[in-house]
Amino acid sequence: MDNSSKYLHPEFETLSREGIEKLQLERLQATVRHCMNSPFYKKRFEEIGLKPEDIKTLDDVRKIPFTTKQDLRDTYPFGIASVPLRDCVRLHSSSGTTGNPTVILHTQKDLDAWADAVARCLWMVGLRPEDVFQNSSGYGMFTGGLGFQYGAERLGMLTVPAAAGNTLRQIKFIKDFGTTAVHAIPSYVTHMHDVMVEQGVEPRRDTKLRTLIIGAEPHSEEQRRRIEEMMGVKAYNSFGMSEMCGPGVGFECQEQNGLHFWEDYYIVEIVDPQTLEPVPDGEVGELVLTTLNREAMPLLRYRTRDLTRILGRTCPCGRNHVRIDRMRGRSDDMIVLRGVNIFPIQIEKILMQFPELSSNYLITLSTDRDNDNMTVEVEIADLFTDDFARLQELNVKVTAALKAEILLKPRVKLVPKGSLPVSEGKAVRVVDNRKVYQ
Ligand code: AMP
Ligand code: ZN
Repeated sequence: MDNSSKYLHPEFETLSREGIEKLQLERLQATVRHCMNSPFYKKRFEEIGLKPEDIKTLDDVRKIPFTTKQDLRDTYPFGIASVPLRDCVRLHSSSGTTGNPTVILHTQKDLDAWADAVARCLWMVGLRPEDVFQNSSGYGMFTGGLGFQYGAERLGMLTVPAAAGNTLRQIKFIKDFGTTAVHAIPSYVTHMHDVMVEQGVEPRRDTKLRTLIIGAEPHSEEQRRRIEEMMGVKAYNSFGMSEMCGPGVGFECQEQNGLHFWEDYYIVEIVDPQTLEPVPDGEVGELVLTTLNREAMPLLRYRTRDLTRILGRTCPCGRNHVRIDRMRGRSDDMIVLRGVNIFPIQIEKILMQFPELSSNYLITLSTDRDNDNMTVEVEIADLFTDDFARLQELNVKVTAALKAEILLKPRVKLVPKGSLPVSEGKAVRVVDNRKVYQ
């Protein structure tokens, strides 16, 4: 590996737009042909009379029906596969908590391509074989564990499979092993920092940390800046989902100006979730992804439910792979309260603007005397006062700022540090206790 190169795979990363689209068309045609080996897709194509030869241009992707999470559930566990089970070497499943989990199968070739994609992302943010990479995310079925493990090893870094939890041990590892980069869920990073403060560990002084990879759950720009400030690092946003392998799908470059989605691996579409028609660049819609180099289980026009928008297709870093805005949240996460649509991330963005508040918060929806209400509990920061009058004053300010953002007045409760639950997996930000009237 040439340590001085900006790119791990220059032949793909620096393709022109024409080059990307040419490769995408070839790979799309091959994928559709390969999907004829999947009983699920074969039947789908026959129902609408679609033949692989009908895909003549990239726009023809729109002739292909969407694939949904429900399709994965209906064919649970192996029904969408395009290769026999004996050719598969691993399966992962999503972190969903309701119904059948969704299962994704991988051949060895799929795992190699996945490790390459993750290695490419890590290289893009400046990590090199000299770095020590600590993966503080869950292992097991959660793809953030093995996904980053193999990617970081592929790059050649000393990789520490610390997994999530046991925060004192995490901090000891960071200090003893000279860890320079950590991958973790953003809510866990802030918890790790709280424990560092308790232990008298100052990351800038006592560790070699300089890069954090944060992802797997929605977080605001304000949250990222806060993490960078408290840990004294650069923090890069990583997007992935188990249906698309896991991490390595979209990743920020050092410009930190949107996530590059690797278009040699995926066709990216943003559609209106109601009409399912494409929306113009810059407009928010649902992210739809088609895999271009998957063997065991290609997915065509997979509706991710994640809401975002296209920011651009060029970047000062020299990569022309589409840049996607950070996720607004999933369409299923949207809170509809008294007819108003609210995303938890809007609330987070406001809370993070107050240095007096910590990063841990919880939104509870409840029905009180037939009225639906929202309560926002947020922990106060370490050094802030316990003076009642000042807390009251802060409460009034936070409430007003939230009202200006979400157009409803929530009940705000400022609670002591450490009183809200911390999860080792993705943070639970919303609890809905509303009465449902039939
Ligand atoms: P899973 O398949 O269990 O890993 O969950 C994938 C989902 O996690 C995605 O569809 C997104 O909703 C969410 N997600 C993953 N990475 C991010 C990120 N960087 N920002 C926001 N949401 C994310
Ligand atoms: Zn870039």
